Amino acid sequence: MINYTERIALLMQDIVRRTPNLSFIDLSEVLVFARFGRSDADGAYATCHCLTLPESEPGYFYWRDRTTGELTRRSEWFVTKSPVVRVGHTSVKYLISFVLPRFCDQTLQRSRKAHLYPGAPGWLAKLDTVVHELYHIDPEETGIRRFMRADGTDSMRSHGPLFYEQVAEMTKQYLASNPDPEMYSFLRHDFNQLTELHGGVIATTFKNFPSFPQRYMQRLEMPPAECGVRIEPLKPLTQPIVYTEDDLYTRQFTGSRTNRLRNDEGRAA
Ligand SMILES: [Zn+2]
Repeated sequence: MINYTERIALLMQDIVRRTPNLSFIDLSEVLVFARFGRSDADGAYATCHCLTLPESEPGYFYWRDRTTGELTRRSEWFVTKSPVVRVGHTSVKYLISFVLPRFCDQTLQRSRKAHLYPGAPGWLAKLDTVVHELYHIDPEETGIRRFMRADGTDSMRSHGPLFYEQVAEMTKQYLASNPDPEMYSFLRHDFNQLTELHGGVIATTFKNFPSFPQRYMQRLEMPPAECGVRIEPLKPLTQPIVYTEDDLYTRQFTGSRTNRLRNDEGRAA
């Protein structure tokens, strides 16, 4: 079977090596994993998740009476934090997720980037997406290049006016640098072709799949700001706040579902 996230990670190494604009990226601090998403549903193909965002300012949720506008309830104080992901001795700074099988079926046809690649084969959309996610990594190490949402995922607003053009430029530059076609040839095939060619598609996921490391709210011991207002406890955490290599599992993806591989072969490196 083809390990799709492993192939993407190897391709990323080659891209970073050959692309001066991305050469600052230390890929040992970047972890590639897969999420599930059908090809016939709308949604992202891939996402860059930053784990180095600072803790938020303390805050709380509150509820007001609709007629009087008076504060009726509020939550406990909390801060929003990023989970820790460690592989061996390395702290992971970015996670890049690819949505399977949707990403494998991505093509330039009818995509917003088609005009950047006139006459190019459809699979180039996937190479473009890989470069795109790498380009979100901020050289200043402050998070996601340009803007981001509070939860650390990138939003449409993290794309400046030239973002797509710059990504297309780097993608073409990479191909012009004469890389070994073996590095990217797996992108030529859609999901069904890959399954047929390799007998299956497997990928790194987190143990708590379909979840993965995400920003979480941590309760703070702070005196209530107002008297006489009911305080709602925060929901208890349901996901880990520290992940290690033991939390990585290889799963097989099919067009409509995923299966975890048996434990002995299922641990990802
Ligand atoms: Zn983006």
